[in-house]
Amino acid sequence: MSDVVRFSCPGCGSELETPEGTVSNRCAFCNLVSLLGRPGRVVKQYYRPHVDAREASVIAERHLKNAGQPLFSSIDLRALYYVPFYRFRGLSLTCLSAIKPAAQTMNADPEIGQRAYELRAKNVDLTVPGASDTPFGMTSLGIRPQAVAAYAWQDSELPKEATVWPADRPPDEAQAQAFKTDATHVAMVHSTKHFEFSDMVGERQMLIYFPLFVMAGISAGDHLMVVLDGLSRRVIHTSNEPLPIPTGRINDSVMALRPERHQCPNCGADFAPSEHSLVYGCHNCDRVYLLEPVGYQQLSQPLVGEGPGDLYPFWRMPLAFDGQPPFDTVGGFSRILTEDIPLLTKRKRHLPFYVYVPAFAGADAEWQVQMAERMTRTQPLVEPARGVPISVTAASLPPAESREFASFAWHWLRMSYLNLRGDRFEWKNARTGNSELVWLPLTDARLQRSVVRAQTRPEPRRKRNAALF
Ligand SMILES: [Zn+2]
Ligand SMILES: [Zn+2]
Repeated sequence: MSDVVRFSCPGCGSELETPEGTVSNRCAFCNLVSLLGRPGRVVKQYYRPHVDAREASVIAERHLKNAGQPLFSSIDLRALYYVPFYRFRGLSLTCLSAIKPAAQTMNADPEIGQRAYELRAKNVDLTVPGASDTPFGMTSLGIRPQAVAAYAWQDSELPKEATVWPADRPPDEAQAQAFKTDATHVAMVHSTKHFEFSDMVGERQMLIYFPLFVMAGISAGDHLMVVLDGLSRRVIHTSNEPLPIPTGRINDSVMALRPERHQCPNCGADFAPSEHSLVYGCHNCDRVYLLEPVGYQQLSQPLVGEGPGDLYPFWRMPLAFDGQPPFDTVGGFSRILTEDIPLLTKRKRHLPFYVYVPAFAGADAEWQVQMAERMTRTQPLVEPARGVPISVTAASLPPAESREFASFAWHWLRMSYLNLRGDRFEWKNARTGNSELVWLPLTDARLQRSVVRAQTRPEPRRKRNAALF
């Protein structure tokens, strides 16, 4: 079982299957390369029910009988409802602290230097209701979403008898709730420790419609509503309440998947498809583009670090603190990050100081943060290069998310340096700039394993013109 999305090829109409979250794809039948996703876009997907209305009725009747409940004397409604859930994937990052054992016995002021800080990092996959009124008592997805194929149907492809419950909650509000729930959970699991700060980055977000069969009618003189999970075929809810009526409007920022031609905006040559990458180079005119929420943005010359090892893409964001003395160059920061010798080299002294974060996905969440810390501490030198750097690892983190990650990474770095703990060096007091992509050579076995594990997925099966129903 894999998490896949099925959609129709805009070129030939074949039903294609691709891993969920795929950025671009080539049709196996007509060779058309399509762009399927871009940062910040929330796309609707549907699960196809594993049961039809007649079967659902039989299961519902059997359920009532087994439960010793009176059966329906009359049925007013047998219907398919689609209930929305947002799904988020990302990196959950938390910093916890505890008083060091030595400090406890010394009866000292639990001041700076007396606390031990620890990092909790994990890849998460969270779902929260998309409708504010949680219809039919359904507050969570009953199944692991990745166990079932989702269909990126256009509105016209929906089953005719289906009622789609409007996802009236805005995606960012739902996202905030998912993060809060996650942070509460981490704090609860580590209740003996102090919760310092947390963040979530690299989110991919989608809206999943879950199928429910609803039967409503009269039973023993009263209203009765029986609700069936359309995938597991189990009764999940019975109620004497009347049928709920959808309120609210679907949020405009959620849209149907609309595959579009994936080609160089300058010369029209097809880009090579990539499951994860947000960066595309044109083999024809040598330009390099970054996929942004608004479309393709040309990158000026890509910046590449020197040295042995495979290239990995990183975002870097300039960071400075004004005041006396100002901290805005590598030389300036080397006075605080004292044990980090690489900062002291003369060639770097007058360069701007950057916070680095991985732009690639890694299954080893903790190592992602360690890499951010390592690069920020070493401030690698980069040179402009021609064409797309030959990187085995796709740049998949959107620039907007790189800012969240950089803020966490800086926070985390501050915990290691007593002289960075003061208010002066808080992120909110920093002067930051736009993130830029750089490719850095690294030889690191743990990183390599982490990246490979993040990319490994079963090969998608391809189906041609399979009937939708
Ligand atoms: Zn095609
Ligand atoms: Zn081109």
